[in-house]
Amino acid sequence: MYCQQIVEFGKPLEGRNYDTPEPAGTEVLLKVTACGVCHSDLHLWEGYFDMGEGNRLNLEDRGMHLPFTMGHEVVGEVVAFGPDAENVAIGDKRVIFPWIGCRECPDCEAGDELLCNAPQTVGTRYNGGYADEVIAPHPKYLIPYDGLPAELACTYACSGLTAYSALKKVSHLTEKDTLVIIGAGGVGLSAVHFASAVVKAKVMVADIDPEKREAALKSGADAALDNSDPEALAQFMAETGGAGAAIDFVGAPPTAQFGLNCLKRGGTLVVVGLFGSSIPLSLPTLPLGMRTIMGSYVGTLEEMKELMSLVQKGKVAPIPYHIRPLDEAHDCLMDLKDGKAVGRYVLKP
Ligand SMILES: [Zn+2]
Ligand SMILES: [Zn+2]
Repeated sequence: MYCQQIVEFGKPLEGRNYDTPEPAGTEVLLKVTACGVCHSDLHLWEGYFDMGEGNRLNLEDRGMHLPFTMGHEVVGEVVAFGPDAENVAIGDKRVIFPWIGCRECPDCEAGDELLCNAPQTVGTRYNGGYADEVIAPHPKYLIPYDGLPAELACTYACSGLTAYSALKKVSHLTEKDTLVIIGAGGVGLSAVHFASAVVKAKVMVADIDPEKREAALKSGADAALDNSDPEALAQFMAETGGAGAAIDFVGAPPTAQFGLNCLKRGGTLVVVGLFGSSIPLSLPTLPLGMRTIMGSYVGTLEEMKELMSLVQKGKVAPIPYHIRPLDEAHDCLMDLKDGKAVGRYVLKP
């Protein structure tokens, strides 16, 4: 099998050849047809997350060993499976749910694999889809995508699922509320696309880039504002009375601060983006404003199934994607780093 791997953190990815892996137990081997390039791959490639105040979370300490193949938005065709794999057939075309736990602890047994303390995620712990072949640990993580192009279906495994799960956390909002979506890059733009299928609120997009605001308005946002404009917040509060919820798809100090400041009483800030660093937090504003700050990370297997069914029913408009050859994996990462991408890059082996 051929793959594009991290050989050293922060250095260009390298193309390497290995023997085709033999699926054991319940494992399934798939021939990769498409793999999305996620912004979080950039952090994996750098080898750390910026935790703020000079602290770093090193990924090598968290069990990521080099050389490593990234890629957690994977679509493939089943070519082989282990002796204990059931309900799977050669030729099945499937998108892989990558957010897999140990499958043994009480959280995993309850279907909350994201809460597992021993994650086995495809593309962040286990070699992923920047390759022509990939192993999925069990057939239950393989989801059909009939009727959709493979290049689009792969994006629902992370970007789409992350957007869907974050929106579900604010699905209590009504038509009278405003939901602020901060950051209309890949995942934020996905959220704008599905928002009306999950939440009744009006959708206001906040982005500093006029092109991304434009893309968000075309994708169904009711309005857009430039959160780097010092007047924008006061204007927004005067016009709407504040947001019932804000979802921060960037996760940087200025965006999280904007997200908190734009809330009305009782509002919720959902932090999704992993840009990094920290913000000072005025504690009395939490009880006095009855505000909630919460985090949302990707989504569950159940949510992924719900999302794919919405997509297949045509309730979610497709996000823009750009197909690039697998050997351009590193260039894709660099273009993401430079903020050049509008929509998703998808690698084809
Ligand atoms: Zn991702
Ligand atoms: Zn577990």
